[in-house]
Amino acid sequence: MSDAVSDPVLVLEAITKTYGRGVAGPVRVLTGADLVLERGEIVALVAPSGAGKSTLLHIAGLLDTPDSGRVIIDGLDMTRFGDRARTAARRGQVGFIYQFHHLLPEFTALENVVLPQLANAVPRAEADQRARELLAGVGLADRAEHRPAQLSGGEQQRVAFCRAMANAPQILLADEPTGNLDPATSDQVFDVLMEMVRGTGLSALIVTHNLALAERMDRVLYLRDGQVVPG
Ligand code: ADP
Ligand code: MG
Repeated sequence: MSDAVSDPVLVLEAITKTYGRGVAGPVRVLTGADLVLERGEIVALVAPSGAGKSTLLHIAGLLDTPDSGRVIIDGLDMTRFGDRARTAARRGQVGFIYQFHHLLPEFTALENVVLPQLANAVPRAEADQRARELLAGVGLADRAEHRPAQLSGGEQQRVAFCRAMANAPQILLADEPTGNLDPATSDQVFDVLMEMVRGTGLSALIVTHNLALAERMDRVLYLRDGQVVPG
């Protein structure tokens, strides 16, 4: 996409984050990280454990705030927004997928996909219909009424994908989304994820340790010494 006009959906500018100023001394995790995610682009983020991948993803997804730097989503500088506006932007524009599904155990697959929509003021009937469509799209139409404990690891993760897509976000952030699955299941579930992202024209930033998976994305970025560097 080098000759295309830049139309970024997410821009991170000079992000810094340091943890723990106590007895153990500060941990400087991000030291000026820059990242541009173009519309419709799927980017892999690769780095060893402890490098700050989750920290960066949480900041990009407005789940955490940087010490300095800017998070720009769809042209708006989120670091200038208050908590309420940031929460609204996060609910409406960002979908998050974790390594462990983090589904609510007492709710069915369907309800887990409905709840974020209700939080976003979508009427119940509409939310139900969208949840059923999303579940059908990942091959789980007949598992809608099952609770997470009644589903396999791969199925749980597919429900988590649907939940992340529930409010039709512009940006999908995935933190080692198949890292908790056996290799065969991981490949299958990753195929479902890629199909979903490509099919909706979504922009995605996907953290992975798996270089074979990373190479299937549009670009691979690394996190080194607290900064984002190209491959
Ligand atoms: P990764 O996802 O690449 O494994 P993380 O972003 O989770 O890395 O963590 C980066 C570093 O920051 C690690 O050294 C971790 O121990 C530290 N860290 C993460 N979260 C916190 C926290 N809330 N308080 C203190 N240190 C933290
Ligand atoms: Mg992590």
